[in-house]
Amino acid sequence: MSQAQQTGSAKVRGGGTVLGYAEGRPRIALAGNPNCGKTTAFNAWTGARQHVGNYPGVTVERKEGVAHARGQAVHLVDLPGTYSLTAYSMEEVVVRRELTENAPLAVIDMADASALERNLYLTVQLLEMGQPLVLALNMMDEARKAGYQIDTARLSRALASPVVETVARSGEGLDAALSAALEIGHSESARKGLRISYGSDLDPVLGSMERQITEAGIWKGAAPVRWFAVKLLEGDAEAWSQLQAADSRLEAVLRAEYNTVAAHIRSTTGTSPEAVISDYRYGFIRGMLKDGVITHVGNRDRLALSDKLDKVLVNPLLGPIIMLAVLYLVFQVTFVIGAYPQGWVEEFFGWLGEISTAVLPEGLVQSLVVDGLIAGLGGILSFVPLVLILFAFVAFLEDTGYMARMAYMVDRIFRAFGLHGNSMMAYITAGGIAGGCAIPGAMATRTLRSPKEKLATLLTLPYMPCGAKLPVFLLLAGVFFPGSEATVMMCMLLAGWVSALIIARLLRSTIIRGESTPFVMELPPYRLPTLRAIGIHCWERAWMYIRKAGTVLLAASILIWAAMTFPQLDEQAAAPYEAAIAAAEEKLEALPSDASEEMRAAAQSEVDQARQNLAEAELQNTVGGRLGMALEPLTSPAGFNWRTNVGLVSGIAAKEALVSTLGTAYSLGEVDPEDAGSLAETLASQPDWSRANALSLMLFVLLYSPCFVALVVIKNEAGGWRWLVFSLVFNTLLAYGVAVVAYHVGLSVWG
Ligand code: GDP
Ligand code: MG
Repeated sequence: MSQAQQTGSAKVRGGGTVLGYAEGRPRIALAGNPNCGKTTAFNAWTGARQHVGNYPGVTVERKEGVAHARGQAVHLVDLPGTYSLTAYSMEEVVVRRELTENAPLAVIDMADASALERNLYLTVQLLEMGQPLVLALNMMDEARKAGYQIDTARLSRALASPVVETVARSGEGLDAALSAALEIGHSESARKGLRISYGSDLDPVLGSMERQITEAGIWKGAAPVRWFAVKLLEGDAEAWSQLQAADSRLEAVLRAEYNTVAAHIRSTTGTSPEAVISDYRYGFIRGMLKDGVITHVGNRDRLALSDKLDKVLVNPLLGPIIMLAVLYLVFQVTFVIGAYPQGWVEEFFGWLGEISTAVLPEGLVQSLVVDGLIAGLGGILSFVPLVLILFAFVAFLEDTGYMARMAYMVDRIFRAFGLHGNSMMAYITAGGIAGGCAIPGAMATRTLRSPKEKLATLLTLPYMPCGAKLPVFLLLAGVFFPGSEATVMMCMLLAGWVSALIIARLLRSTIIRGESTPFVMELPPYRLPTLRAIGIHCWERAWMYIRKAGTVLLAASILIWAAMTFPQLDEQAAAPYEAAIAAAEEKLEALPSDASEEMRAAAQSEVDQARQNLAEAELQNTVGGRLGMALEPLTSPAGFNWRTNVGLVSGIAAKEALVSTLGTAYSLGEVDPEDAGSLAETLASQPDWSRANALSLMLFVLLYSPCFVALVVIKNEAGGWRWLVFSLVFNTLLAYGVAVVAYHVGLSVWG
């Protein structure tokens, strides 16, 4: 075990720095679950005196700053948010290292007072580690509002640590917490460590391990030996390799003991020592809380009502049926109501296009504005009303607490696929109820403790129908499955989920094999959200969509327009087409005035055809057109023509660009832009478009490579370029395979 772990309130390390101190100031670390208000408190304590960096070699943010308490400067460290101190996630590894190798004088453990049970899980582990600790019960304002009353004196006695009520937002209790931390940091007794009983199977083994490690004299860490023994029993890889390095003979002996007890536990309870330890910790916490620490005044009725509602809503039989019905209803309402404002936006952009065509002189500028900008942005913005309505529903489901029930219901299913209940939130954020985004979704995987479960979630969440894929589905469903839009959307949603789960299972039994982590789910009481809260949440998401439309997508629209305009056909190449048009026009004009309607129409259609041939030749000559053509032999088994290919390639830049690129591809190819109907009408009139093509394209869009920004985020979260390459290549191949099958099935069903 490394010398660096030698620590204490004022022991001297090799370099001469005093542990527990930094630059002569006492070091206080700030720990807690994600979203408990740590950063808010940290900012209140340190103001502008802070330094942000990264922990070496990992993407976990490191924040330090200087605060003042008792007339003294204090060095504060904001640790990454974690639920536990195992070595599963990068955040947990960082926190553990910070606490063992770089030991602070004391820890302020911030807990969300209205979710005390979950938050205390970390507290208990910090105490077992022998960290002098102050428990800051944060968000007390909300806890009080919800009717919780916490007996801090009793809790403080049970934990043998100071407990302070805080409201990080207003600064209430923050000074008191910091002073208490300074005080407890100087108390030696606080370092003895909390001892919890882990039951009749594990306690004897724990005792035996503790004794043998002490006798061997190899444990030089600051934490109590018992903590190290608990880590070994948890099967903690880091602890075992430390032991192996320090004394390989002892490691073999203890490994045998561990294997025996693990086998016993597996045969009697079907779980692992780790799960038993987790159960006993929760048992300890529940016992403590039941013992008068926490009471719920007021709002009792609400809790009773919640329980009654849950009897129905998470009923094993009714629950899933209700869930599907709710989702279906959400889609139905969205598309029925949303069709009106969507029409207005489309009309507006159509009008804008006409005006621009009339005002601007014919040429490149007109083409850029009308075909590039207005068609591109119009295509994207016409979906804003739908997105707004959908997001309002999602916000409502989230704020009422029903979303948490959905996560709860799928938890058991998720486990069967090697995932975790927490994966649900990441999936939903990525578009699991339709209309999310893979980028925040990928970020939401940070709540997953096991890197394996996190990776599996990360790699499969791009299959969800994100907000940018919706316009493609809406467009194609509207054209080829009129009247069944909601059904189509529902099917796409289910296809996304089924693919995510199957691929996750596949990954978890091949390249990312490994056990699942024990997990406890919370069901918050139902509450009726305020209109304001829904409005804000809905607006936040919609604004993200609009902002992206205004920046990334505007740039992409211009780029894609350029790729589909240049290089222009040179005069020589255009000459035969021009000549054909001229000849056809001449023929039309030369018709005798008494020519029949039929003859006139035939001549007119000849002119149209000649013009169309020119437009097509022009488009095929461009960079985009050439790329699309080059891909056509590959994509024709899936039913994609070269225009679709151009759209799909641009979709890797940003999925939103897909519809607008298709729009550009088809309107550039149009004979007369003024007569051009909407993209929907255009597609409906194309002879090479059928239901089979639409189905195949929708599935391909659902599954193929995540967009550029999402790929980068996935790379960062998964920690390696190979996962970026994997997402890009594997997903595209998968999508291709599914699309080919769907196309042929579609052809045989619909003819
Ligand atoms: P962290 O993830 O632990 O760093 O949490 P943050 O400091 O980012 O806080 C998460 C959210 O909780 C933010 O929206 C804060 O404004 C809010 N918040 C933090 N402390 C309090 C509090 O005491 N009361 C209330 N009502 N909200 C809080
Ligand atoms: Mg934070």
